[in-house]
Amino acid sequence: MTGFHTAADLRHACELKAAHPDATLIAGGTDVMVGLNFGHTSPAALLDVSRVPELREWSREDDTIVLGAGVPYTRIVDELGGALPGLARAARTIGSAQIRNRATVGGNLGTASPAGDALPPLLAARASIELASLRGTRRVPARDFFLGPGRSVLADDEIVAAVRIPVAAGAEQFAKLGPRNAMVIAVASVAVTLDPPRRRVGCAVGSAAPTPVVAGDAETFAGAELDWDGRRELPASVTARFAELAAAATAPIDDVRGTAGYRRHAVAVLARRTLTWAWQEYRRS
Ligand SMILES: Cc1cc2nc3c(=O)[nH]c(=O)nc-3n(C[C@H](O)[C@H](O)[C@H](O)COP(=O)(O)OP(=O)(O)OC[C@H]3O[C@@H](n4cnc5c(N)ncnc54)[C@H](O)[C@@H]3O)c2cc1C
Repeated sequence: MTGFHTAADLRHACELKAAHPDATLIAGGTDVMVGLNFGHTSPAALLDVSRVPELREWSREDDTIVLGAGVPYTRIVDELGGALPGLARAARTIGSAQIRNRATVGGNLGTASPAGDALPPLLAARASIELASLRGTRRVPARDFFLGPGRSVLADDEIVAAVRIPVAAGAEQFAKLGPRNAMVIAVASVAVTLDPPRRRVGCAVGSAAPTPVVAGDAETFAGAELDWDGRRELPASVTARFAELAAAATAPIDDVRGTAGYRRHAVAVLARRTLTWAWQEYRRS
């Protein structure tokens, strides 16, 4: 490694990234340091963005939360459980308390792992990602951000500045399956959002395809079938079909954490559960 740069603010971070496009950004370091310690990566230089004030804050603009890329999960759990219950639920499952104190959504997006737990809630909620560089700022729908495992539309001179997430219009759920209850990489995960004013459902799946994926057919089906006005109990036929459509949206592989068949089954079970929990919450509200 030939350099370590520390950005004082967002403008400075963009200048440093433009001058050193091969530098690896480091925020919480919970992925970067693992890669370095195990010798999996040897970045040309590191660019520390952990002290950039603009990345460390969140604000509310009308019905949108603008979440700085460097806000750690602990703060998302403590401060945003009401406005962003889906993301907060996912944040609660990430690593340990020590990891949640450092790790960030910007880092989850930067790593672009299909197993990133913060990602399905962003897709389900139809969030958009704000990318900053000296060329200006652009917004990309979270649903269009990922290109493959570890790959995204982020250019070499860009930084994830913030994520713009609609304030929950209704119930939001997240569930994750792993070999144990904590400190696990998900074998499968599902996020579901209900938007009663728009009669719209969001559904995204993690760890079951090369990228986190949107289960579009499941969304359309549930949006049309749910009894938004009467709030009657969910028929088993609806949850079963929703589960089937969510599983059909995946393209899983066999690996050490599970077979493709197991993952498809797990996604169906998690989709059925998350839709049921969200609907129960809506009926009570
Ligand atoms: C013990 C342990 C348990 C874990 N458990 C989980 C878990 O349960 N679920 C889960 O999803 N993850 C888990 N992780 C992985 C990790 O904590 C998350 O991916 C976290 O969100 C990374 O955030 P960070 O700020 O630490 O990222 P960093 O390690 O600092 O960076 C990660 C990547 O993102 C890039 N990056 C960072 N900030 C930005 C930015 N603003 N703009 C563009 N790129 C950026 C970096 O260059 C790097 O490529 C775990 C890690 C450890 C070590």
